[in-house]
Amino acid sequence: MHPTAIRATSLCMKVQTLIIGAGAAGMMCAAHAGPGVLVVDHARAAGEKIRISGGGRCNFTNLHTAADNFISQNRHFAKSALGRYTQWDFIALVDAHRIPWHEKTLGQLFCDTSAKDVIAMLRAEMVRARAELWLDTQLGEIGHDGTDFTVTLTRNGRDQAVTARNLVVASGGKSIPKMGATGLGYQIAARFGLPLVTPRPGLVPLTFSDERFKPLAGVATPARVTAGGAGFDEALLFTHRGLSGPAVLQASSYWDEGDPISVNLTPGTDLLGALQGHRHSDPRKALTTILSLYLPARLVDYLAEGLTLTGTMADQSDARLATICAALADWQVTPSGSEGYRTAEVTLGGVDTDALSSQTMAAKAVPGLYFIGECVDVTGWLGGYNFQWAWSSGWAAGQAIRQGQGGS
Ligand SMILES: Cc1cc2nc3c(=O)[nH]c(=O)nc-3n(C[C@H](O)[C@H](O)[C@H](O)COP(=O)(O)OP(=O)(O)OC[C@H]3O[C@@H](n4cnc5c(N)ncnc54)[C@H](O)[C@@H]3O)c2cc1C
Repeated sequence: MHPTAIRATSLCMKVQTLIIGAGAAGMMCAAHAGPGVLVVDHARAAGEKIRISGGGRCNFTNLHTAADNFISQNRHFAKSALGRYTQWDFIALVDAHRIPWHEKTLGQLFCDTSAKDVIAMLRAEMVRARAELWLDTQLGEIGHDGTDFTVTLTRNGRDQAVTARNLVVASGGKSIPKMGATGLGYQIAARFGLPLVTPRPGLVPLTFSDERFKPLAGVATPARVTAGGAGFDEALLFTHRGLSGPAVLQASSYWDEGDPISVNLTPGTDLLGALQGHRHSDPRKALTTILSLYLPARLVDYLAEGLTLTGTMADQSDARLATICAALADWQVTPSGSEGYRTAEVTLGGVDTDALSSQTMAAKAVPGLYFIGECVDVTGWLGGYNFQWAWSSGWAAGQAIRQGQGGS
């Protein structure tokens, strides 16, 4: 027997439901799981990722949430939870707590004041549900006798064994270890023999080992960025180490290492028609001057050598202009990697949904064991979708526990 397990037996507590992780999903589940809930977290504060999310204003959901906005090996898995606890349900909760919010863009809803409002709301919901919260608590061994789970916890320097009928794993993914992300959920899944879809960073800036975009660092432009068959129309930002901005973060979740990405630098613009017009109206102007009307001047300078952007407008034939426009509409670059978990907003992959009930989030093979939120192989796009998944999956597990039906 593990030495901490022996000491733990001196102090043993029984709860109905033990939730590991006081993040978005764990707090939501705690508010709905009925009596006898204990939430534990090794962090000093609950909901740390909520606090820093959306630039401190938490993009807490998206008006357009649908299963198509999520990446998973089973694209149908998220439908049940998303359909039963919707964005409208969460908005109603936010409204009931009188939290002011606004739509920023593309259906993305943000707090007017602070992300801390959302944390306070979830804490209030937990208090209302009489769920207990232990912060600064370290997890040790997890045992299971076929009915109950026994978890060794260390709190205030003391070991304590907690026995629970239900164990909910809401410990998130691996993204941003500095904020307490550990990948614990994957270890617990492995401990109980549940399969994993290999985790990898998502919503992450892409890097180039030659730092070729260093001269463009800080330049932003609208673009359509496509990777792995998925294209996103949003801003693209050049950085010292590569490419970022919402369009790139979105595409990064579909990108496979070694593959090129395609960047359309002139989305939604009839650039060829416009340039032909300029050839009549501005024949003496340099091609680069005219292109700078449609693209950032620094980007045009950067591209000038590779695309041979020389001469005046009068010098350009139709064929030449068409070639330039085609190159700008499908600029292919191959990143060497990504910024990794250090800055990734989410972790793709996770507990294989084949092993879970889509209704309850319970492990099909282990009665009473649940996985919710980011540790499951369901990853949202940028724009409030990941929190909506945390709310919906946390709610689904909470409901099932309250109604005493964990099965598949
Ligand atoms: C910078 C940033 C900004 C983001 N902005 C948005 C946004 O605006 N909108 C959006 O929808 N999504 C956003 N996300 C994604 C979103 O934060 C996550 O998808 C969401 O928090 C996942 O919820 P969760 O409850 O599954 O995990 P988390 O919120 O990560 O919670 C997991 C909890 O488990 C605890 N834990 C981990 N390991 C252990 C351990 N070993 N022992 C004990 N406790 C442990 C952690 O301390 C944490 O409290 C953002 C992410 C980042 C990093």
